[in-house]
Amino acid sequence: MNPYWLDIIYLFSSVTFILGLKMLSNPEKARKGNLYAAFGMTVAIFGTIFLHETEHEVQPVNYILIFAALALGTVVGLVTAKKVQMTRMPELVSIFNGMGGACAALISIIEVNHMIEQMDNDPIAQLPETAGAMTGTILAILAGLVIGSVSFSGSIIAFLKLKGTLNKPIRLPKYNILNTAIMIIIFAFAAWILLGGQELSMVYIYALFAMALIYGVMFVLPIGGADMPVVISLLNSFTGLAAAFGGFLYDNQVMLTGGILVGSAGTLLTIVMCKAMNRPLSNVIFGAFGESGSAASREVSGNIKEISVSDAAVLMNYSSKVIIVPGYGLAVAQAQHVIHELENIMVDRGVEVKYAIHPVAGRMPGHMNVLLAESNVAYEKLAEMEEVNPEFANTDVVLVVGANDVVNPAAHNDPSSPIFGMPILDVENAKHIIVNKRSMSAGYAGIENELFYNPKTSMLFGDAKSALTKLLEELKAL
Ligand code: NDP
Repeated sequence: MNPYWLDIIYLFSSVTFILGLKMLSNPEKARKGNLYAAFGMTVAIFGTIFLHETEHEVQPVNYILIFAALALGTVVGLVTAKKVQMTRMPELVSIFNGMGGACAALISIIEVNHMIEQMDNDPIAQLPETAGAMTGTILAILAGLVIGSVSFSGSIIAFLKLKGTLNKPIRLPKYNILNTAIMIIIFAFAAWILLGGQELSMVYIYALFAMALIYGVMFVLPIGGADMPVVISLLNSFTGLAAAFGGFLYDNQVMLTGGILVGSAGTLLTIVMCKAMNRPLSNVIFGAFGESGSAASREVSGNIKEISVSDAAVLMNYSSKVIIVPGYGLAVAQAQHVIHELENIMVDRGVEVKYAIHPVAGRMPGHMNVLLAESNVAYEKLAEMEEVNPEFANTDVVLVVGANDVVNPAAHNDPSSPIFGMPILDVENAKHIIVNKRSMSAGYAGIENELFYNPKTSMLFGDAKSALTKLLEELKAL
């Protein structure tokens, strides 16, 4: 067997990861990109199982265990991913991410065990010449353990928060100082294990594991409201980093590349999300952000105006430019197909139609893009926030469908609002605004929206799918 086969496989897999990631930036190619990367991962897994050379022959029972675990993981992954609703996808991402972190931490624990056994049985391992290499290995082990554990416990808390089981931020007194103190203790303890000169012991490793798990919980618990996406993508980058340390440990190139790609993609996404939600990254790291929605935002009052489906249809039919703003409600109602039909009929009538996509509309990054791509909305029709904001002023009608926080002017003009400073879609600059939602209920951030009381705004109450279906029928009849 050519000893380079496995290296070639790893190179191939790394290329599929990079290609897959690149394709994810385009909604039309994203699905294919995911499949490419998954294929690369499958090849890497089987390549490792069958071609990786080990000192001792692999026992048949180990193969049985490996394949049983693979089968179990595949079935659970397939069933949950197939069953999960689009709106619950962030929960799935956080739990899968947590599993990645747990794997990295468990790898570290197993490797320390190996190392201790090796040191006990092999006197050469104790020679000062090998000490340098050992320190490097222990460093990778400790880093993988700490980062993986934080990512695991943090992701579980993020999962429970998104699920609604833990819907209020829990803050101990001086939680910010407490969190920083725990982090410093973890670093100091890890440095002592690494450089203290004492014998490596599993007791220290388990203690470090426990501390990192506690830190993960403490880190995410105080965070609430609209900042959860930042936390998830940050934890995602942690898992990538932990996996990269695993790759370093095993001298496994594909694990290293995969981990680095996840780590850097997660970091970039975190930065993009921070900008979109106007939260500095330092606040994320120290857990000092994310006031819950019930915060002391300004009272909003005034009259609201309703519009009938037939009036809305007439208004849109005789417009020259309509911008659709999709939000979480569109996803819940599964109204992506009917909105596309609505777009088609308006385009046939000579109306210019676009979709304005806010980076955090929905419940996960790219949520709206994925949803609209599913109903074959042309990619060129999707306009990003910065690009579309100047266009609202010369837009006849903005149709807001199940969006709330991402069009809330409090982000501009209410310093007491929890979303103050978050960039929003400036829909209030349009000539007419039609807002479709079921009631006057708040969105994710839990705050009132003065846009609904704007004299230019008309409310079209009802579930997005049924309201848009009626609107479509009215438009067809005109
Ligand atoms: P919001 O959560 O602000 O508002 C959604 C609105 O949709 C609600 O006010 C609700 O009002 C309405 N709605 C719900 N169901 C339906 C339905 N069936 N038909 C019609 N309307 C419906 O959504 P946005 O998209 O504006 O903003 C996203 C929020 O989620 C932001 O605060 C963002 O920070 C946060 N977030 C974003 C993530 C991301 O990565 N994109 C991840 C996690 C959170 P009503 O009940 O009256 O119908």
